[in-house]
Amino acid sequence: MGKIFERRLERPSPTISVGQAILEKLRENGDEVLLIDGHNGNQMTNKGLLEKSVKFANFLQKNGIKIGDRIAIASENRIDWLIPACATFYIGAILASYNPLYTEYEFQYLLNIAKPRIILVSQRTERLIAKIVPNLSWKITLIELDDQPFATDIRTLKDILNNEEAVDFLGYKAVDIGDNSKHPLVILCSSGTTGLPKGVTLSHKNLLAFISKITQPEYLDIRHRDRILLFLPFFHGYATGMLLACMYTGSIIVMMSAFEQELFLDLIQKYKITHLPLVPPILIFLAKHPLVDKYDFRSVRELVCGAAPLAMDVAAAVKSRIGIKYIRNGYGMTELSVVSNLCGREDEDESFENAATGVSLPGFLSKVVDLETQETLDVGQVGEICYMGEQLMMGYWNNSEATRQTIDHDGWLHTGDVGYFDDKGNLRVVNRIKELIKYKGYQVSPTEIETVLLSHPAVKDTAVIGRPDERSGEIPMAFIVRQPGTTITVQDLQDFVKQKLSPQKWLRGGVQFIDAIPKNPSGKILRRELQAMIPKL
Ligand code: ATP
Ligand code: MG
Repeated sequence: MGKIFERRLERPSPTISVGQAILEKLRENGDEVLLIDGHNGNQMTNKGLLEKSVKFANFLQKNGIKIGDRIAIASENRIDWLIPACATFYIGAILASYNPLYTEYEFQYLLNIAKPRIILVSQRTERLIAKIVPNLSWKITLIELDDQPFATDIRTLKDILNNEEAVDFLGYKAVDIGDNSKHPLVILCSSGTTGLPKGVTLSHKNLLAFISKITQPEYLDIRHRDRILLFLPFFHGYATGMLLACMYTGSIIVMMSAFEQELFLDLIQKYKITHLPLVPPILIFLAKHPLVDKYDFRSVRELVCGAAPLAMDVAAAVKSRIGIKYIRNGYGMTELSVVSNLCGREDEDESFENAATGVSLPGFLSKVVDLETQETLDVGQVGEICYMGEQLMMGYWNNSEATRQTIDHDGWLHTGDVGYFDDKGNLRVVNRIKELIKYKGYQVSPTEIETVLLSHPAVKDTAVIGRPDERSGEIPMAFIVRQPGTTITVQDLQDFVKQKLSPQKWLRGGVQFIDAIPKNPSGKILRRELQAMIPKL
């Protein structure tokens, strides 16, 4: 028969628009600080954002931007990022946010999906975008977020705001978007781990449903004046969710435009950070780096981890080292409005090698299906994880074929991830279907082998992939970053895995020592890059 888990909503999710919700909160929290730039201490208050974003919204409308038009941002994290983002939300336009590190090819591809009419650029991205724009089939206007554009015909945001008339920002109203589940809010790019990023369309309802749940005391318990440290890239769903959650609760975002080890630790102490939304590579850093012992983490109430698998040993080491009781490990994907499952305070079970990802948030139906027959499986059986519910994306923008491949006839979204649920509905993710190593008849999870390797004290970081092999199809091979000063050998590591795991998981493909594991900004291992680094036999 199989098991379908249902978490009913405890209270209905908001029916207003994100624009309305944000305007209300920014007004309410007025002169209080909303954003702090961790690099230089610059600040923006709720009122500051309100004034500037309403002015920019007026500018957009005067320049012909209408409900449903797309506005893009291609910039690293910065305080000003939220000005065009909020303005876009108020007027019912749709925000497309991009990784500033995209290549020309990636920008070209992604711009062609969303077809924005305006794009906000930074010094880092403006030249590349300016080069691409003349070859596109529609007109895009560039606006520079930094004060010094390289070309004289590009206006800066500052200049626009200085020239815009004062507005009655207290009486300002967001555009009526009608049913909030039918109107797109953002086109977010998935991380591009398995191919080119996809343009995930999320509605106002999708993200409001998420943030109204996640901020509650039983989840992240984000309270007015709490302090959230955010180095996660703003363009990504994880940070988008956190930014909205902070505005929604009147908490303070301390932001970084890139992760810097010492600054990250300094900021936690300086601002008495209460919430740390992290990804597994940062937990590995917290578990293993000597610097960490010098810092005080007592202010941290919630440490969240997601976006990639978290090894139990790493989680345990972080907890004892920084003196935090539990880690909120979670699972999600952009297509599920960022998070579907999140650990409560008691969901941990140390007998497993990978941390659990908790039960689903209210408003989700979840199940696991057989990879071949698509039959719904029982508790404990491993298969593809599927979801239904109010947080499911509207679809991939301008790509109904890809949407049909992901959301089936009955409305189930197929995640492409393999895992299983325990009898309480607590999810354990095994691996991505696409990344499983096919050794003879077995499907081997690289994550499981990585978890074992990470428990070795001489291993600073690792990634495992399938090395093509004539006889067996693929054989597991490990890339290893050694802890400085250690002299561990290939043989030692192969023996270590042999002692702990069954034969199909042994490192028959060998071990390669490297300086760093390639990962994308959301902390995911770029296995495609490692495939290209396999030494030729
Ligand atoms: P793309 O879809 O473009 O290849 P992506 O899937 O990495 O990229 P995201 O939407 O950012 O893009 O990430 C969602 C994926 O991240 C999930 O499908 C899953 O593979 C992985 N993931 C998220 N949380 C966890 C977790 N706790 N444990 C294991 N994997 C996770
Ligand atoms: Mg994906």
